[in-house]
Amino acid sequence: MAEYKLVRGHHTNDYLVHTADGWLMVDNDWPGRFIQTAGALKRAGVRMADVKYLFNTHYHVDHAGLSQELKKQGATLIILDTQLPHIKVDETYSRDPGMAAFQPITMENVVVISAADSRSYLNKIGLRGEILSTPGHSPDSAALIVDGLGAFVGDMPPFEYLPMFRNAELDSSWRNVLAHDPPMIFPAHPEPFVPDLTLMPQPGYLD
Ligand SMILES: [Zn+2]
Repeated sequence: MAEYKLVRGHHTNDYLVHTADGWLMVDNDWPGRFIQTAGALKRAGVRMADVKYLFNTHYHVDHAGLSQELKKQGATLIILDTQLPHIKVDETYSRDPGMAAFQPITMENVVVISAADSRSYLNKIGLRGEILSTPGHSPDSAALIVDGLGAFVGDMPPFEYLPMFRNAELDSSWRNVLAHDPPMIFPAHPEPFVPDLTLMPQPGYLD
């Protein structure tokens, strides 16, 4: 089973998943928080040089704000093709003071893959799993499934709240994630949890 670590540079869970070639970092943090994130990595015993891959569950600024700086340190950013139109990061956040430090994401050190190709790509870097498009929280939301470890789901709200959202897209994204039998769910802000499938609403509540 792949090893993982959870570090926090600010308000986002930055997960590190071990690959055959260093760490894959799932989500990063707010612009201007690079030093704090570097410190959190150090305390977790992870060398910046060993963060070889980045994957963002979506391109809200609290998840992707340090992507460019981390790429400059040598990491490769894995982008799902459905995310590509969104990597400029939502401009509605631009009045946040932290946004002044935001470095736009360039196409250097980037790989763009489809969900269908993700398993073979991850296999090449020594990670068994795949990336799913999971729209609902945002159109570019995506989840990383690591076989035997769990699902990194970003900002998908807990599935017991689905009847409150009544969002068919979110519903089918959750069913797709859970169909992969993740032993754990790794959300971007609360603590990781074991999914209790009895809390999944029966199909039909949307009718
Ligand atoms: Zn978000």
